[in-house]
Amino acid sequence: MPEAPAVQIDNLSKSFDGIEVLRDISLTVNKGEVVSVLGSSGSGKSTLLRCINWLEEPDRGSIHIAGQRIGVDAQGKRMNNRELAAIRAKTGMVFQSFNLWPHLNVLQNVMEAPMQVKKMRKDEARAIAQTLLEKVGMEQKAEAFPYTLSGGQKQRVAIARALAMSPEVILFDEPTSALDPERVGEVLTVMKNLSSEGYTMIVVTHEMEFARAVSDQVVFLEKGLLIEKSAPEKFFTNPETERVRKFLELSA
Ligand code: ADP
Ligand code: MG
Repeated sequence: MPEAPAVQIDNLSKSFDGIEVLRDISLTVNKGEVVSVLGSSGSGKSTLLRCINWLEEPDRGSIHIAGQRIGVDAQGKRMNNRELAAIRAKTGMVFQSFNLWPHLNVLQNVMEAPMQVKKMRKDEARAIAQTLLEKVGMEQKAEAFPYTLSGGQKQRVAIARALAMSPEVILFDEPTSALDPERVGEVLTVMKNLSSEGYTMIVVTHEMEFARAVSDQVVFLEKGLLIEKSAPEKFFTNPETERVRKFLELSA
């Protein structure tokens, strides 16, 4: 049997207050792929990511993570919180605003979820956290508290924290949008390295160069519709829709 995709989204729809913000979205992300999600503000990008890990409950459609349906069990019944947490743990999320735990130091931030959710032993969690901090170039800051770090450093810690759960996919929601311009590069470099190592990533971003250089697929959302899905070269040089052409013009 062929390996299940890391993420399979079928006919996903979601409304808020009667307004459909995701409309019949289908998308397959294979293992090791990087998918960049582009679109203007309010087009539904964050909601899409939040539906993938059921931080938002979809109205219709299904989402499978590494072959396992999230949110709904085999009988079509809603999962209880424990079941949902177990499959949600197969996804990692990196937010624009980092969301590190302020009362924990860098090392503890990375160790926390494996210990709490996976019941990993402390020494094992520490060893993994140290390796991951080296991967993102933050091993020197293991004992530091988040408030002492730059935005770029915080985001690299947040990435290490997401990796600590060995997720099937890492969801990035505008990971560099809150950073000073001179800090953007260090985070994108870490993300590029992850992609070379074969991590599966879905990245909402406005960094066109990154999307073009690193993605396997680029998708474009417009008012909740997925209106274009292409390989990056095609997307950036010969898009199918007038809307994407316009978007690229405006962001050039
Ligand atoms: P993007 O990330 O592309 O900027 P979002 O997914 O955040 O877009 O939002 C899509 C639309 O859904 C927007 O109109 C937004 O106002 C609306 N929306 C998002 N989350 C909620 C919510 N929790 N309640 C009501 N409306 C929401
Ligand atoms: Mg958003």
